[in-house]
Amino acid sequence: MAELIDGRAVAAEVVEKVTAQAAGLVAAGTTPGLAVVLVGEDPASQVYVASKSKKAKECGFHSVQHTLPAETSQDELLALIASLNADPAIHGILVQLPLPGHLDERTTIAAIDPAKDVDGLHDVSIGRLTSGQLGRTFVPCTPKGCMVLIGRVHPEGIAGLNALVVGRSNLVGRPVAALLQHANATVTVAHSRTRDLPGLCRHADILVAAIGRPEFIKGDWVKPGATVIDVGINRIPAPEKGEGKTRLVGDVAFEEARAVAGAITPVPGGVGPMTIAMLMANTLTSACRAAGREPPVF
Ligand code: NAD
Repeated sequence: MAELIDGRAVAAEVVEKVTAQAAGLVAAGTTPGLAVVLVGEDPASQVYVASKSKKAKECGFHSVQHTLPAETSQDELLALIASLNADPAIHGILVQLPLPGHLDERTTIAAIDPAKDVDGLHDVSIGRLTSGQLGRTFVPCTPKGCMVLIGRVHPEGIAGLNALVVGRSNLVGRPVAALLQHANATVTVAHSRTRDLPGLCRHADILVAAIGRPEFIKGDWVKPGATVIDVGINRIPAPEKGEGKTRLVGDVAFEEARAVAGAITPVPGGVGPMTIAMLMANTLTSACRAAGREPPVF
């Protein structure tokens, strides 16, 4: 039976470390500042933004939230970003995605100063990540969280291990693959056009699933002893809990895979809690850089 990788516990450790380091920075005259921008009233985005702002406060940060109406124009949004870029009290700017349809996401993200791009989605950040300049960029939060969890299972490193990333999105699959390669794993990226996904999975010492399809990866695809990182968050009907009830599952058939894997993340409670913790870590890193201090390693 696989070891369960407890993302909640690891995320709490990261937040504790961020809070302690932030206190040191505050004492030296720099309060880490995070600005979160929400456009419109998407209920899921409202929840995400509120929890990011709250966590930033818990870490002792200067935390500001800008909530703009859904009809905000591109120019108005760019003007807000320009003012946050120029504000020395702000070290991290996060624009919650998705944006309403009339706003262009790439134009918006491109307007953020790369030095404050704590989501790691700016083209400059992506370029620095893929060229291995990790000390000069911000690694996107969910991929960074995946790597922290993998590091807990493999404290000796992952050099030479076979890693398979299923999914090639800009948000998860691509940056996770870049990070695994940077850590000297031999990396394969699978996607919707891949042939023989079960066969590829069976060779993977590290399997990262970021697909968005409930319980898609079956237990008998998993290599015995493998480390399985399930990024997927899928809501499915749960009639056993009552009429109309739902539950969250990952992209991996958890119970089956757990019987074969060496270590596995649950959903919920695996990668999910790491994302917000790594956002706090990135904001602290930005504040350290602004203050001319060496940022801690997470
Ligand atoms: P996406 O839809 O942008 O990308 C999905 C990827 O899966 C694509 O690259 C596609 O090629 C691949 N894919 C689709 N069908 C496939 C198939 N049959 N075989 C192989 N590959 C296939 O999604 P995303 O943004 O990368 O998110 C993936 C999942 O991770 C979602 O469930 C999302 O909710 C979750 N997610 C979780 C967090 C978190 O834990 N904090 C953050 C981001 C995303």
